[in-house]
This record gives sequence, structure tokens and C-alpha cells, in this order.
Amino acid sequence: MSVCLQSSRNLLFHARFTLSFRHHQVPENRPFSKMPVLQSKDVPLFLRLVSATTQVASSAGSIARKVVKSGELDIVDKGGGNDPQTIADRAIPAYVTQMLRQSFPKLTVIGEEGESVSADNALFEHLIPPSTSNSLLDKFIFPQILKLKIPDKLRGIKEEDVVIWLDPLDGTTEFTKGGLGHVTTLIGIAHGGIPVAGVIHEPFSYHSGDGRTIYGIPGVGYGGCQMVLPQTGKRIITTTQSHSNPRIEAAIGILKPYRVIRAGGAGHKALYLVEGVANAYVFASKGLKKWDTCAPEALLQAVGGKMTDLSGQAYSYNKDVSFYRIFHLLLVFNQHEN
Ligand code: AMP
Ligand code: MG
Ligand code: MG
Repeated sequence: MSVCLQSSRNLLFHARFTLSFRHHQVPENRPFSKMPVLQSKDVPLFLRLVSATTQVASSAGSIARKVVKSGELDIVDKGGGNDPQTIADRAIPAYVTQMLRQSFPKLTVIGEEGESVSADNALFEHLIPPSTSNSLLDKFIFPQILKLKIPDKLRGIKEEDVVIWLDPLDGTTEFTKGGLGHVTTLIGIAHGGIPVAGVIHEPFSYHSGDGRTIYGIPGVGYGGCQMVLPQTGKRIITTTQSHSNPRIEAAIGILKPYRVIRAGGAGHKALYLVEGVANAYVFASKGLKKWDTCAPEALLQAVGGKMTDLSGQAYSYNKDVSFYRIFHLLLVFNQHEN
């Protein structure tokens, strides 16, 4: 399958934010640091990091749930009238980054809300999970991760060479409208510019009141969901619900879909592919950023799928990339559409 659309490079977006949490101190003695195996040098750093990421993503889900329960989303428009940020978007990255850095201080974290969360973080301290009451962090959700057999290139990964691409709340537009099933927390782990693992957490999953966490490690495995093959012979495409434009609609039209499923969130749509709801995710526009795609790309690769730009090229997740936006065409195929 091929699609031709003109690329316009003049839309390049050069903003670059690195998370800064000087003002926010998560109290010591969090349960996270009570898991000595996450510090153990007997287990490869990569596996400890993936395991820790699943734990902290799961725990962060309670922040989104608390915000909904409080009814106080504290919405700020980041620009253009269609890019909202809520208090959950601000609190989750502070928590996730601080928690990961307790065990992995040399990580580079690049997150969507980089600038805004360095403001007055005391405003959301009440949302941070208390150390004693979060049972998710008292036990491993995926104890099997620490025992996975991994190739030497993953075994040799050093902390300082890892880049975490963090979208604390993907699908915020839907979140602000009560479309909670579209919301995920995305934590992508990149090394050498490629996604080596991805964690997707659904805080409002219908599977569990405590949310659902899914991980994928390309070439190694995945967990937390069951990959389902999509229907063959029917091209079902999923795309944006709240950020469409004529270019996206034109691209979808060219693909002659049997059905189009419009939904919020890059993470949510990636799960549609993994669980056999749709055959492809098409987004022929600017708007997606690398924190939207790193974790979904890792999971898709882990189940045999693929994510590319229009010309079939892979995206780079190096920390030195000069822009974070994904341009113009994102085609995500599962194995039936390769
Ligand atoms: P959607 O499929 O519309 O939920 O978009 C997936 C991700 O890309 C979300 O994190 C959106 O915030 C982001 N995104 C897509 N299009 C835009 C846009 N036009 N402006 C801002 N963010 C966008
Ligand atoms: Mg997003
Ligand atoms: Mg977001």
C-alpha cells in the first residue's frame, strides 16, 4: 500500500523541552525504593528499568483517577484552542520522573509538559500517591520482566544512554470531555535512537478499577494484553477524533477503508491495533509528537507491527533530535497490512 502526500518542511517545530523538577520533591521512602531488586546489579539495567516503568506508570494512574473524582481538572489551553492541559498532565510527569530518577538518576527524560511542570508543584502535591496506601507498588505487576532473556545489545544498555519519552496523559482532549477510555500514560524507552521498550497505562480501563498496564519489548515480548489478529479482507482504519483536517481525511480516502474508527489518543489507537480492533492507524498531519509515538511504536513492534513515516522511514528517538513533531503521515500497520 502506498500513499503520496506533499511534505511541507516549513512547518517544522523546533521547541525542545527537558523536564526540570528542581522544585518538586517526592518524599523519600516511597514503596518504589523498597524494591531492592530494582537496584540489584544482578539483573540487567534494561530489565530493571522496564519493570520500574510498569510499576510507576500503574501507580501514576491513581493521579488521573483522583483528578476525575475531585472534578477539578484545572484546564489550561496550550495554544490554538485545541491543545488542553489539565492538572493531571502536570502532576503525573512530576511523579513519574521523580520516581524513576530515584533508582535511575542518569536518565534523560523528555516529556510533553516539560516547561509547565517546573512551576509551583505544591499545587498538586495532594494528588501524588501516598507511600503506604498504594498496593500496586508493594508488589510487581509483571514479575516475569526481571527474568526475561534479552539480547546482548539490550543487556549492555547504560543508564546515561537511555532516553525516556513521556506523555503523562495522552488523549487530554477526550479526558476534558469525559472520554476517559481514550486516556493513557505513555512511557517510551529509547536507546541509540530506537524504541527498545514501551509502557502504556490505561487509568480508566474497563478491565480493572486500578487501570491496566501493557508493556512491549521489540524482539523480546509483551505483556498485559492479548494480541488479537484483526479481520482479514476488511481494511479498518483508526484515526483521530478531535484533531482531524482535510489532509487526514484525504489520506484515509485514498486507502479506501471498509470502516473508519475515530478515537482519541495515540496510545489508545495503538491498542486498537494490538487487540485486533483496527488494521491501521493513519494520521496524515502534523500534531503527533515523539512522546506520543515512542511507547506505542515499541509495543507495536513487539507484537509484529510497524510504524513509519510516508516514505517508510523509521522515526528517531535520539535525545539530540532537533524537533519532536512527527510530520505528515503516520502509518501504523499490523502484520496483516505489511
Ligand atoms: P489524537 O489522535 O487527536 O488524540 O492525537 C494524538 C496525540 O497527538 C495527542 O497527544 C494529541 O494531543 C496530539 N495531537 C494531534 N494533533 C494535534 C494538534 N493539531 N494539536 C495538538 N496536539 C495534537
Ligand atoms: Mg499525546
Ligand atoms: Mg499528553
